[in-house]
Amino acid sequence: MKPVVKIGGSLLRTAEDFIKAAKFLTSFDPPVVVVSAIKGVTDMLLELEKTRSYLMYEEVLHRHLAVARLLGVEEEVAPLLKELEAALRLPRSEWAQDHFASFGERLSATILHAVLRRLGAEAKLFTAPIVTDSAFGNATPLRLEYKEEIATPGVTAVVTGFIGRDREGRFTTVGRGGSDYTATYVGKEIGARKVALVTDAPGVMTADPREVEDAAVLPLLSIQEAIEAAKAGAKNFHPRTFLPVLETGNMAVEVRSYHSRGTLIANIYPPPPYKIVTRCGQSSCVVGLSAYELTKLGGTPLGRYSAKINIPPRQVHEFLIKPYIKYIK
Ligand code: ASP
Ligand code: MG
Repeated sequence: MKPVVKIGGSLLRTAEDFIKAAKFLTSFDPPVVVVSAIKGVTDMLLELEKTRSYLMYEEVLHRHLAVARLLGVEEEVAPLLKELEAALRLPRSEWAQDHFASFGERLSATILHAVLRRLGAEAKLFTAPIVTDSAFGNATPLRLEYKEEIATPGVTAVVTGFIGRDREGRFTTVGRGGSDYTATYVGKEIGARKVALVTDAPGVMTADPREVEDAAVLPLLSIQEAIEAAKAGAKNFHPRTFLPVLETGNMAVEVRSYHSRGTLIANIYPPPPYKIVTRCGQSSCVVGLSAYELTKLGGTPLGRYSAKINIPPRQVHEFLIKPYIKYIK
């Protein structure tokens, strides 16, 4: 089965970035590519929906035209930019936010698809093939359309992340940061064995490196730990990212950058006992197979593999996680 590869928005800022992404993708057997919006664009679109400011529209327009011109794919994005301009006149309604947000992924996926074809790859674009319920802003996927076409070997299927359509055909979104979730959902639906979530970070880290200097990349993580890490706010994962992985039982997720080996998340129970610390207000949330043991030190359990403890993240890292780091590298 084809692998699923998700390209994060942090890797899509410039025209050159799109070429880099396309070249990376053509180094695989033709995968299913799930694409995020260009970095910062979703925020701009949501702001645009609120303000309906023509100046802001022009900012979004220029951001994409600048990239598309350099890549010679202006013609492909022009109709979407026209459609966005027309959307400025839509009445305000519960679905307008998601309608505006949908342009981010529709534009980036259109650009990446066009670039892949320019590079000679056989590629097909699928815009919002996921049917969801109508919970705008936090929709739940119900089914994947065009499943066979998306899974067809030999063709790179380019799929928009983050967005879907409800049964009435209106655009929906699965929640901020939801492209990872789209990727694991698509992976589950087509029976993929591997989903690679590619971002500008080398993998899932033991702590936020901005807060803990000696944070390290974890080579392995169990699915259960990943689910609880997402809930604890690790790496800004959408909280439902790893649920489809649990539902299949035989799909692995790789969190990586273009160059790193990354973190493998699978149906395994690897060491070390304490893996990740995130900041939870004034306290720490700790994730790991032994996190429950922290209740003996006054911690509160958050799940089977996570607990909250009233010690700052730096100290948790120093005393519970760091002593094991040298063994996992
Ligand atoms: N573009 C969406 C967001 O910014 C989804 C994603 O990037 O995962 O939230
Ligand atoms: Mg993200």
